[in-house]
Amino acid sequence: MNYGFVIDNRKCIGCHACSTACKSENDVPLGVNRTWVKYVETGHYPDATRHFQVTRCNHCANPPCVRICPVTAMYQRDDGIVEFDPEVCIGCKACMQACPYDAIYIDPETSAAAKCHYCAHRVDVGLEPACVVVCPEHAIIAGDMDDPASEISRMLALHKTTVRKPEQGTAPKLFYINGVDVAMRPGAETETSSSYMWADIASGHGDHGYDHGQNGNGNGAVESGRRSASGAKLRSPQPQGRGGHDQPSGRIAGQMVQVAYNAQHQVPWHWPVAAYLVTKAIGAGIVILLGLMWGLNLVPFDQATALAVGLTSLLFIGITTAFLVFDLEKPEMFLTILTRPNWNSWLARGAFILIGFTGVVGVWFGLEVGEYAGFFSLNGWIRAPFLWAGVILGIASAIYTAFLFGQAEGRDLWQSALMPFHLLVQAVMAGAGTVLILNSLLPVSVAVNNMAAIVFAVSMVVDLFVILAGEFAMPHPSDIAARAAHAISHGKYRNWFWQGAIVTGHFVPMVLLGFASMTGFTDLASAASGVAALAGLYCYEYAFVMAPQEIANS
Ligand code: SF4
Repeated sequence: MNYGFVIDNRKCIGCHACSTACKSENDVPLGVNRTWVKYVETGHYPDATRHFQVTRCNHCANPPCVRICPVTAMYQRDDGIVEFDPEVCIGCKACMQACPYDAIYIDPETSAAAKCHYCAHRVDVGLEPACVVVCPEHAIIAGDMDDPASEISRMLALHKTTVRKPEQGTAPKLFYINGVDVAMRPGAETETSSSYMWADIASGHGDHGYDHGQNGNGNGAVESGRRSASGAKLRSPQPQGRGGHDQPSGRIAGQMVQVAYNAQHQVPWHWPVAAYLVTKAIGAGIVILLGLMWGLNLVPFDQATALAVGLTSLLFIGITTAFLVFDLEKPEMFLTILTRPNWNSWLARGAFILIGFTGVVGVWFGLEVGEYAGFFSLNGWIRAPFLWAGVILGIASAIYTAFLFGQAEGRDLWQSALMPFHLLVQAVMAGAGTVLILNSLLPVSVAVNNMAAIVFAVSMVVDLFVILAGEFAMPHPSDIAARAAHAISHGKYRNWFWQGAIVTGHFVPMVLLGFASMTGFTDLASAASGVAALAGLYCYEYAFVMAPQEIANS
């Protein structure tokens, strides 16, 4: 048994009966959709065409949404249907980042992820999905692709079909007959608009940050009074002529292309994820740095510094956990990650890495407190394993997010091979900068402070090089990644990037560190350089987290 869909574009009339039947059958709230009909218009009057594309979950044979879900709320049934369990979902929104097709939304009533589930409840009692039954043109064909006698198997054998984004390797099982490239490929439009045929395009970053889609009620008509070449109401400036149009990716389209109707595109992760990256870098980085200094005997061990480092790390890992829980749609279900983890998910793996790291640092800190209070005496043989375990788990804590972002296959810019190394450099830089700040608040040995200043300067230069010569200078693997990078360096996020990440996060700290070097890194300039670097790091993470999510995948 292997269920799939065929959408016959030769027959679709764009009536939205499938969207409506789906909403009714599955009690889909207003403002979100499990299936919708995307309208794309091409050409100029009188040679203009409107293309319809029924759009929904592809029930991929290799579904990234299932892999990334930390609690197995998103799962693949034996019959190939990709199903979800709203009772188990914790609302982490990772599946929305993983789906390269914008098929998943957060249900505003249950706060759980939801999407087309092939009307599994109907299939289980021998019925077809509601959209199939209601379609007046028989343009949607559902069935078992393993059965050579089924209608879908015969359609697939007889017709040439296409799928959306085959290059993603997800093996979609929704096949289009007469699929149109400009409708299948998001970003193909040459004209942008502020509204669709019957709907405003909501903007802003509210609860779920709709960035590209319907208005709140999903049905609000917009009267513009203008009509497109094909007679549809126009929501964008008239085409400039027939000589070709600049596309967002820089290619020249042979004709005008505009999206006249589409569904919402949600931005799932916001500032808490950027903040979590910074606090995690501090908590892990300071232990990596000091563990290596003491473990390799680069500086003499001193307990006052150890207590300051242990306390700081535990504090920031605690804040990191708070950000993670705060960002869940169902924070009260956070512990589900521990009780039913999906070991394929880097979100679940990361949770256990953070717990292991916190445990090791917590026990080590407790031992140092015990010795400081005079309860017992620690020798190097007891301390060393904790330091080295802290270094190893600190590195794992710093870099696991690279693999989590790698599983977010809907965000091409996050697929960077440099990211594990970059996150490690950021952690070392954040840890060293935090030592410089601590030096003005708590007792930190001179040897540790001086070495931290050197590591801070070197790691800042390496970080700057990785950003400017690596992440943003190297060719990007796809148009989508290139568009996200462009939004960071030249578009909406350019101030976060240039003024925040580069100037505040690198040049200002370097100048301040230069001043501080004249006083042996003991004055406020030294601490201020650490503060500036951490502020710049947040700016970088914010732009890096936000920009790729704003590129629509449908
Ligand atoms: Fe559906 Fe998207 Fe998951 Fe593929 S990745 S099964 S399209 S939700």
